[in-house]
Amino acid sequence: MSTELLQNHVAGRWQAGTGAGTPLVDPVLGTELVRVDATGLDLPAAFAFARQTGGAALRALSYRERAGLLAAIVKVLQANRDAYYDIATANSGTVKNDSAVDIDGGIFTLGQYAKWGESLGDAHALKDGEPVRLGREPLFQSQHVQVPVQGVALFINAFNFPAWGLWEKAAPALLSGVPVIVKPATATAWLTQRMVRDVIDAGVLPPGALSIVCGSSAGLMDALTPFDLVSFTGSADTAALIRGHAAVARHSVRANIEADSLNSALLLPGATPGDAAFELLVKEVVREMTVKSGQKCTAIRRVLVPEALYGPVAEAVSARLAKVSVGNPRNESVRMGSLVSREQLASVQQGLQQLQAAAEVLHDGRRAALVDCDPDVAACIGPVLLGARDADAATVVHDVEVFGPVATLLPYRDLPHALALAARGWGSLVASVYGSDPAEIGRAALALAASHGRVHAVTPEVAQAHTGHGNVMPMSLHGGPGRAGGGAELGGLRALDFYHRRAAVQASPAVLDALGV
Ligand code: NAP
Repeated sequence: MSTELLQNHVAGRWQAGTGAGTPLVDPVLGTELVRVDATGLDLPAAFAFARQTGGAALRALSYRERAGLLAAIVKVLQANRDAYYDIATANSGTVKNDSAVDIDGGIFTLGQYAKWGESLGDAHALKDGEPVRLGREPLFQSQHVQVPVQGVALFINAFNFPAWGLWEKAAPALLSGVPVIVKPATATAWLTQRMVRDVIDAGVLPPGALSIVCGSSAGLMDALTPFDLVSFTGSADTAALIRGHAAVARHSVRANIEADSLNSALLLPGATPGDAAFELLVKEVVREMTVKSGQKCTAIRRVLVPEALYGPVAEAVSARLAKVSVGNPRNESVRMGSLVSREQLASVQQGLQQLQAAAEVLHDGRRAALVDCDPDVAACIGPVLLGARDADAATVVHDVEVFGPVATLLPYRDLPHALALAARGWGSLVASVYGSDPAEIGRAALALAASHGRVHAVTPEVAQAHTGHGNVMPMSLHGGPGRAGGGAELGGLRALDFYHRRAAVQASPAVLDALGV
């Protein structure tokens, strides 16, 4: 018996693809779950419907009213949470805590934007700065405004965050008045599709405001017209295709790119084995390596420590990693579930081979037995800590992102050396810093800010309060320069910039008053 074929929602109705479909697989049991297919969809018509019908309906509402739509989505998702956890276990192979990062992280982000949107009130456009005189007299002035983009926002998402990846982008888009078409990564499209289905079926959004295409990406970029937007999250290779597409390269479709990243954790000079900063770093490295089996774009990949602490940190991290049980997420004793697919497992194993050419193995979780699953079927792998004693020479460690439970320990001589090593990631999403001297941390943070989107400082007094190196909070910017894609998401209401167009209106004060911004 064949599995259910998930429907696409475009042009205001549910539509099945006309092909046989691509199966989505349980990465632990190897069984087929559902299928997705987008063959035969009329994409230009789907995009036109979203742009015209969805866009017009959203823009007719004020920011406050659209914030109300986000709050309504939150209620729908909360009512169906259990189903989402079941799908995540089956399709992503994640333990409950890891599914929460995705599912509850998405709901939390929507809730924040619902709250922030309220504060924008009943306006239909945003004021950008104060009016400025264009001449000596105040008679003629310039006022900048931000108006919602009159196009559609296409989201092309990665497999690792099927829930959060949709809502962290959709929250600022819908709040801005811009309709959304999401194309989830095929491997984990089920959870995204189910959430969209629940929201559409609940009737809380106007027709055309939210659409979903599951399956092949073919034709999606071709359907974009100049006022549309594309927000892509995924590998650097696919990002290059998006940037090179005529819609972006020739027609200036605005693109936000979140790609791979070699994030660092930095233990500042002066730490000693077992002191507070040392322990906080060790704990965070282990957490980052194991949450979602290291399949987080923000996970710590490089661990920078003073030369003298290379041995002690290796020992302390390895001792904790040795206690991490890996296997079937349905088994209560399992702390780390599987990777998303056997293809990803192969990719992680191949990436490890590449890194091992320049690094020694300090802890090898590949040797440990898996809990409650067949190693020939499951996409499970234990955590691996590598180390490269010559951090400068180990070029591959600064270049290759292994998207799994893998990190490399790197010793540095002094702080300038450590900062230079961090920058060899050529632009990363996040760096975390561990120490206790605020002045030194402040200097390091500003130096790291030049090549990172976010700097996360962990001092002993925030040991319990800090939100985690890899946790993306909607209050802070998410995105990094250079190889991280150059994108900018979240950061509170700053996220609305991408979905608005800035223009200057030059006029008399009476006309500027009449803008209502
Ligand atoms: P991927 O292979 O590049 O796929 C990403 C998305 O692009 C998927 O939806 C994929 O669809 C689609 N796609 C593939 N080929 C395309 C094409 N020619 N035109 C348009 N779309 C196309 O990346 P992935 O393996 O899913 O994700 C892992 C990577 O994402 C890692 O490198 C990770 O660091 C990065 N990531 C970054 C962030 C961030 O916020 N910076 C967050 C999460 C992940 P199909 O699935 O149907 O092929």
